[in-house]
Amino acid sequence: MKYVFLITAILFTYSQKLNAKNTPYSLDRSDSTLQADFVQEKITDNLYVLKSPNYNTNAGVFIGTEAVLLIDPMTGPNNHQNLLNAVKRLSRKPIKYVINTHSHPDHSGANSFFAEQGAKIISHENFKYTNAQYDQTFKDTFSLNMGNETVELHHIAAHTFDDALVYFKNSNAVFMGDTYMTNSFPHFYYGGGGKGHLEIIDKTLSLGNAHLTIIPAHGKLSSNKTELNTYKANSIKWINRIEQLYNGGKTTEEIANDQQIKQLSTVFNNGNNVGSQSIIRTIDKTIAADLIPSVQLPESRFKQFEGTYRYSNGQVDEIIYENGKLLFRSKGLYIFEIIPLSETKFQVRGQFPVKHLTFNTATSSFEYFNGKESLRATKQ
Ligand SMILES: [Zn+2]
Repeated sequence: MKYVFLITAILFTYSQKLNAKNTPYSLDRSDSTLQADFVQEKITDNLYVLKSPNYNTNAGVFIGTEAVLLIDPMTGPNNHQNLLNAVKRLSRKPIKYVINTHSHPDHSGANSFFAEQGAKIISHENFKYTNAQYDQTFKDTFSLNMGNETVELHHIAAHTFDDALVYFKNSNAVFMGDTYMTNSFPHFYYGGGGKGHLEIIDKTLSLGNAHLTIIPAHGKLSSNKTELNTYKANSIKWINRIEQLYNGGKTTEEIANDQQIKQLSTVFNNGNNVGSQSIIRTIDKTIAADLIPSVQLPESRFKQFEGTYRYSNGQVDEIIYENGKLLFRSKGLYIFEIIPLSETKFQVRGQFPVKHLTFNTATSSFEYFNGKESLRATKQ
């Protein structure tokens, strides 16, 4: 789930102020009412899931031989100190590491708070194209020795371009981040599309044994392979049915009124009826991620657009061709895949309302329509 950058900026400032008032690892015992807002599940003697009172994000706490590892410290007013208090009730060992399943603020918002307490933030390398804080990055896989546990990270672009599965080998448990939520629609529009979504699910199903504990980012505190298999089957039905109806010429509204789509919407949302606007928005994004009619261009054509481009306000964007994808990215801001609608016009994948880039090769520039206005950038 994604929240506006402004909120992160405010919370970042807030966390710094909050931290200034507290010595590292101080326990504010007067705060018992707020602490009680965390819901907790014990997975093993060393692994716990805590649910935040604000964004309902599932955070993880692993107690290693020497130190504690946190997964997805969420943000939210008053939450950072409360999360610290909740962790310290489980273990007094130092919090040495924070790992994020992805960059969205409801998963990484307390990074700066825990970094200031001495934790090292480990994240996927594409965090550099977000405004989330990080210390150490990895590309495809990463392994961390916690003494009593080996923690493996696996990157597959699915929900975002910076997703990581966090797998606890000995504990037979894995955190999937927003690539698995038991109370909302699948959310794969901005990263790997439907293909990446199914790929990360399959990777998860290949880990551990039949009793693997699977921690979704939102919804239930823990799940299992049987439920994830059902989620996978429903995701495939969702993608295929929308494709079938869209290719048959149906409008988004008509697709939203389809019986199978309505039924799947209820299943994804934990049995709750969801408003038609929410269904329509999700269908639009599904179409924008995977079904826009695109043209085939040779690799040599994609490479012609590579380079750094500067806007009149000084902001610099980069166009790069990587692993068969043309990426449009800016340090500290965003990373998107762009797909060709013609020789020169590209759509930003998964974005609805639509955003697009139109290249002018004669002037080595492009116009970026960001959904509100067109901005011109020239190659450096
Ligand atoms: Zn997210």
